[in-house]
Amino acid sequence: MSNDSIYQELRSHLTTLRLAAAAEALPGALDAALAEKQSHTEFLKRLLDVEVDATITRRKESLERFARLPAPWSLEDFDFDAQPSVDRAMVTELATLRFLEDATNVLLIGPPGVGKTMLAICLARASIEAGYRTYYTTAADLAARCHRAALEGRWATTMRFFAGPRLLVIDEVGYLPLASEAAAALFQVISQRYMKSSTVLTTNLGVGSWGKVFDDPNVAGAMLDRLLHRSVVFNIDGESYRMRTHRARAERLTSKGGGR
Ligand code: ADP
Ligand code: MG
Repeated sequence: MSNDSIYQELRSHLTTLRLAAAAEALPGALDAALAEKQSHTEFLKRLLDVEVDATITRRKESLERFARLPAPWSLEDFDFDAQPSVDRAMVTELATLRFLEDATNVLLIGPPGVGKTMLAICLARASIEAGYRTYYTTAADLAARCHRAALEGRWATTMRFFAGPRLLVIDEVGYLPLASEAAAALFQVISQRYMKSSTVLTTNLGVGSWGKVFDDPNVAGAMLDRLLHRSVVFNIDGESYRMRTHRARAERLTSKGGGR
């Protein structure tokens, strides 16, 4: 068999095995092997490195699309100095994702604009980067989706969907009052994840006032029990970051104006 036909067959093997990146890299890798007098093992390893990298990238992109994060934030963007009520060491620890191993939940509690959604998204981003199935939803979207599912006879499938992700972010619990059906959906999602997988939940409600937003204070209590049983809670106070940047800009403008 000529070198040429061996090469053709090797390429076609790689394609049959769906190793498209390796197939594409083959000519370059062969040239490099000759030029650098690589051993067989080294050549093969380098060729497969290309395929492994492509697979990891593809998987990450797919996790990324699935997660539906509403913003591209990651932890490097979070300004800890601006938010002294957020325990930096704790956030850094959470970013290692060890909390996913024992299904610890994270509760981010605080008024609007203090960075709750941002922190939740930063953890979700880290989780995607580490290769975990991750999903973001607001409480209102979750409720609407469960409502539709109930009408269309897809309740069980939808519950399985929300049980699936290794990390689920439920954003903005308590912004809108939840009718009893919506509260029941949220309760079921939290119950079935309890002790199995982590949920990051953001809310503007102190735990004391959960009863008021849910029609049934018993449901609220049971939900909190499960969420808090194994959890890290951040009570974030201070002023809104949005207002802060807005005010800083306004102050800069007025001080410039005053100087003239
Ligand atoms: P919340 O969910 O608490 O209402 P967000 O997380 O949506 O607040 O934050 C509001 C805005 O302020 C976002 O644009 C966010 O990126 C920004 N922000 C809030 N806190 C910080 C922070 N500590 N560092 C950098 N940006 C921040
Ligand atoms: Mg928010």
